[in-house]
Amino acid sequence: MTHPTKRADSHEPIRGRTTVGNFELTILSDGFYFLDGGAMFGVVPKPLWEKRAPSDEQNRILLGLNTVVVRTGRHIVVIETGIGNKLGDKLKSIYGVQEKLPQAFVAAGVKLEEVDIVINSHLHFDHCGWNTTHTPDGRIVPTFPNARYFAHRGEVEHGHLQLERDAISYISDNYDPLVASGQMTLLDVKRSETKEIVPGISVEGFPGHTSHLMAVHIESNGKHACYISDLIPTSAHLDITWVMGYDLDPLTCIEERKRFYSRAIPEKWLVLFTHDHHTPLGYVELNDKGKPVINQTTIGFTYS
Ligand SMILES: [Zn+2]
Repeated sequence: MTHPTKRADSHEPIRGRTTVGNFELTILSDGFYFLDGGAMFGVVPKPLWEKRAPSDEQNRILLGLNTVVVRTGRHIVVIETGIGNKLGDKLKSIYGVQEKLPQAFVAAGVKLEEVDIVINSHLHFDHCGWNTTHTPDGRIVPTFPNARYFAHRGEVEHGHLQLERDAISYISDNYDPLVASGQMTLLDVKRSETKEIVPGISVEGFPGHTSHLMAVHIESNGKHACYISDLIPTSAHLDITWVMGYDLDPLTCIEERKRFYSRAIPEKWLVLFTHDHHTPLGYVELNDKGKPVINQTTIGFTYS
């Protein structure tokens, strides 16, 4: 990975660029948004978490919406698609939704028609929002017309249940039209099972945040990056017990974080954070107390 030259300004739609072996990665943003700091840190007391994630007068913290574009040489792969443009006015204002992803693609010089693979780690609305676009005349159309989309079958089924606990997290227009048209392939990967999507890009089951969350592995020429999604949403969540109030199964999250670190640290994986606006990627190491921390010399990003 190239070393950081400059920190991206908060409104820069390109959050970072790096290489993994022969693959080029660009981190794009759908903008930042705000969530309750207490919900983001579960049972962790505020005096501890606010040192890492300062909150505003409404107790909200700033979070990113990071989409990773991987150019493999043969494929253009998009991991995650932000919040999109389908929320109603009330939720838009609560979250501070910015709808930046389309202009981030323009800034990065990637045409939506060129994208041939889209992968969703899970189907919460802040991860698959731009799978489809709500047009001014009220239609729902695929944002990436030539792409094959991949998501977990269990996520679609869970979303359809519309359970009291998390119905709000699932917006069926983000996936049902793609499933109906055959453009979305539904996967059945289990915990710790992997499935190749295209050479060098695979998904692996890492349950806990939801029952069917998938991480995305990016591997080329001996280098390895991993989009771990909401299992570790930001670099402020590296401690194994600092799981979110949103997680459906916090005990499984803790076990899965241990399983992740048991490979990511010794094998020096570049970790891609889904909701960290300022530190979208970095290498994790253990400090002298044995706690996982970001290697400060590798934080970051270069961009030209
Ligand atoms: Zn999320």
